[in-house]
Amino acid sequence: MEKRIYNFSAGPAVLPEDVLKEAQENLFALPGVGMSILEISHRSKAFDKIIAETKADLCSLLNINDSYEILFLQGGASLQFSMVPLNLMPPKNKADYILTGSWSKKAQKEAKRVGTVNVAASTETETFNRIPKQSELKLDPDASYVHFTSNNTIYGTEWHKEPEVGNVPLVCDASSDILSKKIDVNKYGLIYAGAQKNMGPSGVTLVIIRKDLAERSSDSLHTMLNYKTQVENASLYNTPNTFGIYIIGLVAKWLIKNGGLDGMYKTNKEKADILYKCIDDSKGFYKGHAVPDSRSIMNVTFRLATEELEKKLISEATAAGFDGLKGHRSVGGLRASIYNAFPKKGIEELVKFMKDFQVKNG
Ligand SMILES: *Cc1c(COP(=O)(O)O)cnc(C)c1O
Repeated sequence: MEKRIYNFSAGPAVLPEDVLKEAQENLFALPGVGMSILEISHRSKAFDKIIAETKADLCSLLNINDSYEILFLQGGASLQFSMVPLNLMPPKNKADYILTGSWSKKAQKEAKRVGTVNVAASTETETFNRIPKQSELKLDPDASYVHFTSNNTIYGTEWHKEPEVGNVPLVCDASSDILSKKIDVNKYGLIYAGAQKNMGPSGVTLVIIRKDLAERSSDSLHTMLNYKTQVENASLYNTPNTFGIYIIGLVAKWLIKNGGLDGMYKTNKEKADILYKCIDDSKGFYKGHAVPDSRSIMNVTFRLATEELEKKLISEATAAGFDGLKGHRSVGGLRASIYNAFPKKGIEELVKFMKDFQVKNG
């Protein structure tokens, strides 16, 4: 088998090796089914079992009760930028958006097509290097919902505690930190996340929606864009991404087996701390982008003194088997995405490499 290298990609991203091996082993024929997951009907008994178990395991990991529905949709997190306002903004047609990076701005852009967007806070003038404080939020108590992005994949910042929004439903784009730690789902009206960062392959989007919110959707909406359709048909109105759901199911079982979300958070925190310590101890050779109390445990962003030096590091790192460290094109610099499945050993080796690079180039 081909040797695996360290994959720091922001998404699609690293998956647990156990999951890849199990999927590979069973790709030819699912045990007891005699057909591949790629070949079976989404309306078959075998798939019923897969989707039901996946939902049940996600509910157990995130402690989700039955006032919520779990959906597996398509169109990525980006389609949720539209579905959220189309379904949830009427009849008041106003919503609060907290802007903490490029993804929240893209979400806001689609919401503006539906109604009035109040920017409750933005850290754009500080190049999105931090999460706003609760006291900075200018919330409208009459808004249809408040939207925020729990982890800013590009800038490397993360909310360590969700914003307090009173009785207004909280809507969260959790694409890049879903399942990285425990959250209290009861505080949310809707959570959505593209699977390809921390949960599975691209092409499937997890939506956790409080059932009463799905009642808001107008019947005049296009069928496929209507949460009510998706809830009533349990994600099977049309053919879902069956393979993607299967992989999310395997990842959920892997998470349960490896200490659940508390265990995962503990490891994620340790992993991130190793890398941030290397940055902080470098006496300015490496400069972290996020202010310390807003640092993400999933995407670690940093810069060097010059772009030449950054290019040199990326090229030497790639040659040494560390892939995907180039920062997003909109901010430059470097980014190490260290999702659940990224091994601690890979971070220790990267840190060794970075210290060595500093000695040679500092
Ligand atoms: C990657 C990402 C998206 C976009 O996801 P797609 O599935 O490609 O549409 C949206 N929000 C966040 C926070 C992301 O990290």
